[in-house]
Amino acid sequence: MIRRLIHKVFGAKKSRKLGQLRTLTATQHPLRPQSISPCALRVVKTLQEQGYQAFIVGGAVRDLLLQIPPKDFDVATNATPEQIRRIIRRSRIIGRRFQIIHVPCQNEIVEVTTFRGHASHDHHSQTDEHGRLTRDNVFGTLEEDAARRDFTANALYYDPVHNTLLDYFSGVEDIAAHQLVMIGDPASRFREDPVRLLRAVRFIAKLGFTANAQLAGPLRELGPLLAPIPESRLFDELLKLLLSGRAQTCLEQLRHYGLHSYLLPQLDAFMAQAEDAQFLRHALENTDLRLRENKPVSPGFMLAALFWPAVRLDWKRRTDSGEPQYPALFAAMDTVLHAQRQTLPIPRRFDGIMKEIWGLQPRFTQRSGQRPFRLLEHPRFRAGYDFLCLRAENGEVDNTLGDWWTTFQEAAPEERESLLLTDVRKPRSRRRKRS
Ligand code: ATP
Ligand code: MG
Repeated sequence: MIRRLIHKVFGAKKSRKLGQLRTLTATQHPLRPQSISPCALRVVKTLQEQGYQAFIVGGAVRDLLLQIPPKDFDVATNATPEQIRRIIRRSRIIGRRFQIIHVPCQNEIVEVTTFRGHASHDHHSQTDEHGRLTRDNVFGTLEEDAARRDFTANALYYDPVHNTLLDYFSGVEDIAAHQLVMIGDPASRFREDPVRLLRAVRFIAKLGFTANAQLAGPLRELGPLLAPIPESRLFDELLKLLLSGRAQTCLEQLRHYGLHSYLLPQLDAFMAQAEDAQFLRHALENTDLRLRENKPVSPGFMLAALFWPAVRLDWKRRTDSGEPQYPALFAAMDTVLHAQRQTLPIPRRFDGIMKEIWGLQPRFTQRSGQRPFRLLEHPRFRAGYDFLCLRAENGEVDNTLGDWWTTFQEAAPEERESLLLTDVRKPRSRRRKRS
């Protein structure tokens, strides 16, 4: 539909001067005010009623054009944070360096930002020796705001009141062609903010786009720019990749561009064995599916799955050489997390959950006596059980084990006793088996 519309609007010719505004009216684009969340719509209307410019921007506009349900709605305006706060009660200012406004509604938060200006006018005073932006907090005009966004597909402005779509950089055309195109010179835009490398990978994977010719080279070559980026920012991006709804494709694309070494240096090793690669694919597809069905996804669980092949391998190596099961498992966890820490540490709030999920795995093999009842009461039982099912699906543990736990937890409390296995170490059970 978009492709036909583009053809109608632009004709076949592609070359347009970049930065030249094109305003598409209601008959020239497929967006409708009803597609916008009522909260975001109200924010835009309120700001416009007070005489300010206000638009829906970024991912939501892009996703709606691609018929993907938007994750959230961002608003851009020429009102300053203080002005926004005065106009919209309930809103609060977040962030110090560049203030943004959060407007909480029933079950969403609309993020409102003031147009940002050109930071690159005065190149020397605002970038460091790597070309990285150190000052990025100047207010600007709508046009300047568009120019400082990363990709053309992310620089579209939708005005739901007048039902117009503003496009400075042929973003609509690029979306229709499924092309990821950087605004300006890709190499210098990556230098300004290397995290854009990871954003590019995420959009390529999530939107099914291809990097255009100018983007692909720098994407492959500029990975080293990520090395000095603060760990917290890299970890945020890693989570966004894993929770993008296309996690498997994201990891493939990271490897394709050689960027995984700055986030998950062990990824090649995780995927070296066919069964490990399959385990990962299963785990990631499971998560993608849950996200598509709007079910909650736990990042800790995802990370546990991601690192499991490495933990399992080291655990096996240790038990094969005679180490007892539990200490071997905990030592394997430490080895793997330590190796990861050299590149990008997993924050404490997640590594605890990962260890709990992993640590529960051997306990699932115990199906006699009081132990299954105690395991059922464990606060991480559900996550541990889901993880067990994932391993069973992949043939790593016997399917009957997962099935037994399904039956055990679903059974009425008084029936559970009868499901317990007799302890096979006792001679009684051997006699029973023979009869
Ligand atoms: P998502 O669907 O993941 O939310 P998004 O495009 O909305 O994707 P956000 O991180 O929410 O991404 O950012 C909103 C918008 O802000 C982007 O669409 C882009 O225009 C701009 N933006 C965000 N990060 C950068 C950056 N590092 N450099 C330039 N522009 C950026
Ligand atoms: Mg967004």
